[in-house]
Amino acid sequence: MASAVADNPRDRRLITLAGVLPDLDGAGVIVDVAKALASGQELSFDYYAKFHHVWGHGWPAAIVFAATLACFARQRWRVAWGCLLTFHLHLLCDLLGSRGPSPADLWPICYSEPLFRHPIWLWKSQWRLDGWQNQLVFGTVFITALGIAVRRGYSFVEIFSIRTDKSVIAVLRD
Ligand SMILES: [Zn+2]
Repeated sequence: MASAVADNPRDRRLITLAGVLPDLDGAGVIVDVAKALASGQELSFDYYAKFHHVWGHGWPAAIVFAATLACFARQRWRVAWGCLLTFHLHLLCDLLGSRGPSPADLWPICYSEPLFRHPIWLWKSQWRLDGWQNQLVFGTVFITALGIAVRRGYSFVEIFSIRTDKSVIAVLRD
């Protein structure tokens, strides 16, 4: 998606980052682990459960992330829209396929949190996280991404290292 929107590595990185930033609200798990280690008590997922899919998965976070990331972009408006796009793609994927594994593990999207309680979206047929639907989506997206990489001369590896990406492209084009 980033390669369709942006024409330079920096902007593509920012747009990609917006697609993973929503899960920053799962960082409460670090506090949970630290608390369990410090107290010697059994690990609870209190902070993780309280904030994950709440603080970072609504329109307020979308605006904050898109505006902040756009400040670092070459093409600010384009990147802001791209960030909103990948952010919402993340929400869509969570809504469709983040259950796991029991039906009691359905993840809702609290789209106005942390400002307002509603709306809360939930899809009862949510796919298992390791379900065949997610595997099919992954396989399709991965092969498509490789095709784009061969055609355009850069891949998603550039997010981590442009030098490594050049080696990857050389192998793919060989
Ligand atoms: Zn998420």
